[in-house]
Amino acid sequence: MVVEHPTMVRPGTRVRLDEIDPDFHEGLGKRDDEVKERLKQARDAMRELQERLYAEGEQSLLIVLQAMDTGGKDGTIKHVMRGLNPVGVCVSSFKVPTPEELAHDFLWRVHQRVPRRGQIAVFNRSHYEDVLVVRVHELVPEPVWRRRYEQINEFERLLAETGTRIVKLFLYISKEEQRERLQKRLDNPDKHWKFSPADLEERELWDDYIAAYEDALTLCATEVAPWFVIPANRKWYRNMIVAELIEGALREMNPQFPEPDFDPRQIVLE
Ligand code: AMP
Ligand code: MG
Repeated sequence: MVVEHPTMVRPGTRVRLDEIDPDFHEGLGKRDDEVKERLKQARDAMRELQERLYAEGEQSLLIVLQAMDTGGKDGTIKHVMRGLNPVGVCVSSFKVPTPEELAHDFLWRVHQRVPRRGQIAVFNRSHYEDVLVVRVHELVPEPVWRRRYEQINEFERLLAETGTRIVKLFLYISKEEQRERLQKRLDNPDKHWKFSPADLEERELWDDYIAAYEDALTLCATEVAPWFVIPANRKWYRNMIVAELIEGALREMNPQFPEPDFDPRQIVLE
């Protein structure tokens, strides 16, 4: 069972993003002791739980990150996953599909990147692009993308039933916040590489993306693979909440160090 969290989309309820405040921050301030303490506590706990997950080698965790351009996917990975043992983490970024990928079903490339037992996989974009950018740009006919919500639910159920815990995070920023972040990328030469003129064309389609996100969040929020909408205008708040959510998921998975198949007391080293 999944612990309810204020940002969790309840399965079966229609998501309306204009009812969620991307600026929400619990009235906290970036430099509050509480914020530093909560982030540190969550990160420390994540580290310890990951060690157990890896040692146990039975279950795995899949973290799906979705957001509008500049929404903070890279920053979240950088700040929240810091401190985890890299040997047990795998980050996959999903870009425009290659001809090889397009020659298969849309889940083919994704399935190859799911975490093996003991591992944490982070998806920077995911199979949800196939009902987001693909839908907004009509890259496939509507009947094709319409079927995908159910196909995604079935796919995620398969993963869940075979030992993968799934946490899906939509980092939600406002259109104004995106404008400021794009402007910063233009103003800072060290950030130019992160800017693409195509981002502006996507920005024009903001409302279409919001509608597509609302459908993905509504139709694919399930008990076994919940969606969380993370208020992400404030990076420090986003990081703290994401860390706490991942910690909570790992805690519920409750990984255990395996019992040794030998008796350490009987072993004498020369
Ligand atoms: P970025 O994350 O900024 O490196 O950009 C990756 C680009 O790949 C984004 O514009 C995505 O919309 C695009 N992309 C990812 N998955 C798909 C997909 N399944 N079909 C089409 N475009 C995609
Ligand atoms: Mg980009």
